[in-house]
Amino acid sequence: MEAVRRVNSTARAAGIVTVVLAALLGSAYVLGRSLVPDQTRPHATGVTTDATGPHYADQPPEQPSSEHPSTSQSAAGPAEAGQDGTGRDAGGDKLFGAHTDTGTARLALTFDDGPDPRYTPQVLAMLREYDVKATFCVVGENAQDHPDLIQAIVADGHTLCNHSWHHDVSLGNRSADQIRTDLVRTNQAIRAAVPDVPIVWYRQPGGAWTYPVVSVSRQLGMTPLHWSVDPSDWQAPGANKIASTVLTQAQPGAVVLMHDAGGDRQGTVDALRRILPELSARYELEALPTDPT
Ligand SMILES: [Zn+2]
Repeated sequence: MEAVRRVNSTARAAGIVTVVLAALLGSAYVLGRSLVPDQTRPHATGVTTDATGPHYADQPPEQPSSEHPSTSQSAAGPAEAGQDGTGRDAGGDKLFGAHTDTGTARLALTFDDGPDPRYTPQVLAMLREYDVKATFCVVGENAQDHPDLIQAIVADGHTLCNHSWHHDVSLGNRSADQIRTDLVRTNQAIRAAVPDVPIVWYRQPGGAWTYPVVSVSRQLGMTPLHWSVDPSDWQAPGANKIASTVLTQAQPGAVVLMHDAGGDRQGTVDALRRILPELSARYELEALPTDPT
């Protein structure tokens, strides 16, 4: 009898230990995921990243055009470019007609790779403080994980932009069906948070445009969106460098690329304290329209 009771109590203790361990492991996993979401995810896309580099980044060498931003690309018009379908080899145009400017004198700030619970709320608060509307190019899996942040972005009057499901910089090299599935899945994740929200912009991760990805995004009612000002904030060069690059390169119609996710973005958040008041004084800042023609 005593032996049985001892066994039972040992078994019960073991059971409790197991439950506690499972709970601890579970919360550690959740915590880890929320702290370093990018590192905990598989790089199914074959994107090369080094140990210190960010996972998500719209950066060279994937998009060498960012080193030489050219607003002349948009002059050809989105419909004309890339129609030969020769992909990346099409002349010098690596953008396939993706927009690099707003088409007006207004300037657009864009924030990529989120939403991220660490930085997106800070960016939203800053934008609210300076009464600035912007555009958020969100990653589908992050939208799925943080529907509350998608709702917050929309509630504040900002524009949403599809940035693919898993930030696949090679997406443009996949089949049209695969591209369509990826973009549709992303839009569905966004609309699971905000039903019927307009999603009329698509930004290819890495700026690695191809004719198929431009074509499919257009078929889905989205206009391909590139950029003209890139402070390379994904490299975390510091708030001063980010701010000075943006403020130096800004011009009427500019589309500014920044990131609210994909790594340590405190530099970007801090840079906004300088960028927002100065740019607001010089330009009209806009959320990209949700009914582009
Ligand atoms: Zn990106």
